[in-house]
Amino acid sequence: MATTPNDYDVIVIGAGFAGMYAVYKFRALGFRVLAYEKGDDVGGVWYWNRYPGARCDCESYYYSYSFSKELQDEWDWSLHYSEQPEILSYLSHVADRFALRPHIQFGTAVQSATFDEAAGNWKVRTSCGDTVTTRFIVSAAGCLSEVQKPDIPGLDSFSGDVFYTAAWPKGGVDFMGKRVGVIGTGASGVQAIPRIAKQAQHLTVFQRTANWVIPVWNAPMKTEFVEWVKSHYDQIRQNCLNSGGGVPFEVSHTRARDVTPEERQKILEKAWTVGGTRFFAQSFSDLLSDQEANDAAAQFVASYIRSIVKDPETAKLLTPIDHPIGTKRPPMDDDYYATFNRPNVSLVDIRRAPITSIEGRTLRTAERSYELDALVLATGFDAITGPLMAIDIRGKGDMRLKDKWSAGAKSYLGLCTAGFPNLFMVTGPLSPSVLANMPTAIEQHVDWIGDCLTYLRAHNLQTIEASEDAEAKWVVHTADVAQGTLYPKANSWYLGSNIPGKPRQFGVYLGGFSNYRERCNDVASRGYEGFRLELAA
Ligand code: FAD
Ligand code: NAP
Repeated sequence: MATTPNDYDVIVIGAGFAGMYAVYKFRALGFRVLAYEKGDDVGGVWYWNRYPGARCDCESYYYSYSFSKELQDEWDWSLHYSEQPEILSYLSHVADRFALRPHIQFGTAVQSATFDEAAGNWKVRTSCGDTVTTRFIVSAAGCLSEVQKPDIPGLDSFSGDVFYTAAWPKGGVDFMGKRVGVIGTGASGVQAIPRIAKQAQHLTVFQRTANWVIPVWNAPMKTEFVEWVKSHYDQIRQNCLNSGGGVPFEVSHTRARDVTPEERQKILEKAWTVGGTRFFAQSFSDLLSDQEANDAAAQFVASYIRSIVKDPETAKLLTPIDHPIGTKRPPMDDDYYATFNRPNVSLVDIRRAPITSIEGRTLRTAERSYELDALVLATGFDAITGPLMAIDIRGKGDMRLKDKWSAGAKSYLGLCTAGFPNLFMVTGPLSPSVLANMPTAIEQHVDWIGDCLTYLRAHNLQTIEASEDAEAKWVVHTADVAQGTLYPKANSWYLGSNIPGKPRQFGVYLGGFSNYRERCNDVASRGYEGFRLELAA
């Protein structure tokens, strides 16, 4: 294999949390790095998802970078769960503070990447017509960045305004005096609905699947708490790394079946008062593996819905009937259920009476028609594999990633895929990714990749590639772990069920973040076990 001078050592795809840290890290390690980003600035998810109410559902002192002590000490979060504008300013501050923007080409999508076996490098082509060569590609293209356009008859002919939550206009939207329809009641719809309801003349929510919505009891951070967090950051971050979900929560060791109904109720009430993802972590240890435990939690939330929503028919419609609680990503919001008590909000069941057409300003369902001035689509993403599959990536023997993954994603540790040397994925398919606190998962992956690149350089190695055998075992292991849980009982985007024709595969590793991290470290400490390493010529 010949070594030819490349334009870059590393091309990074994307400039969200992952791409920004990748640029910082690889530059610090002495690699020539460039990131391409479709958007006009940094931020990723927080650049695109500017819809009213957009907010993180992991507390900001966990949902943030840990790599710089100075950054942690100087940045003050105002709320426990920060809103999109604050998270975007934080990421912009990070870009300024660490001078990242000169290494990022904005407004540029990576369209294709082809591995040249003779040269041992990648040729990357972009939407701006650039072609560059690079030794490594690190995809930081995200898990939730490929927006899904729903297949609704006549959608393009709607003559009012159409807004996607995941591509919200920068200047915001004024819904005052408007008849607004929202389609989609996942996490994005659930956060947007209460805010839009406060402005719109009338809001109609078109619901196909009811979700279990958990309160976070969001509140401003008190000064003493901010001081406590800042003085304990080292411990907090370490606890995140040692945890099952990338957040330093205490977890329950109580199985629902081992306690009386009265004790269950007390445990659930306590977990409910802390709210957020702690409701799951701190109630029952078997909540996501035992149907009886899950039913207990579901009944608890159902009774909460009935206690808030005044109209019993609406309360019933808002109560999920088709999936165990927690097996679809539970939306988190404090005002969602009460919003349906407002006189200007109505809920429409499009599972019973699906949308049949949109024409002009009229949306018709199988039952009746609705006149709307604006339509908000909170209809989700082609998640996990979508962003990578949207790029024409060709590995050894001109193999297309799209073809290789046509029956389901295959990866080793979610970091690499066989046949595609020197291509790394940050929070790739079959890694803990979206079921861990993402900045923790991202830093762990970028650090691992940084160590790997340094190892290759130190040992004069030209390529690294996952072996088919290690990959096949990892694919089976991730599927086995998922089968041991209740997750496969739901039709969720974790399984690709929201995308017509997508193979049904649980795309996330459920074996726990800290176990996974240990496994990655072991693999590296054994000279990158399961990978093929080739010497430079
Ligand atoms: P992203 O932020 O998605 O960034 C990827 C970037 O890559 C995007 O800017 C995109 O434009 C760019 N890109 C993609 N393809 C190309 C291409 N071909 N060429 C050039 N650029 C490309 N996770 C949590 O852990 N906690 C939360 O509270 C949380 N809240 C969320 C709220 C919302 C509204 C959404 C949508 C997701 C949330 N997530 C949350 C998950 C979220 O994906 C991660 O937290 C995190 O933002 C991922 O960062 P990333 O850099 O990996 O990906
Ligand atoms: P989502 O969870 O996939 O929800 C999409 C919604 O649109 C669902 O209610 C879906 O119904 C509906 N839908 C899709 N296509 C439709 C169609 N053709 N007709 C009618 N309804 C349709 O997407 P999301 O809400 O954007 O959330 C995606 C993920 O992003 C979340 O799960 C979470 O991980 C992350 N996120 C996090 C936060 C946060 O709180 N921090 C906020 C937003 C997003 P079905 O369920 O019936 O398919």
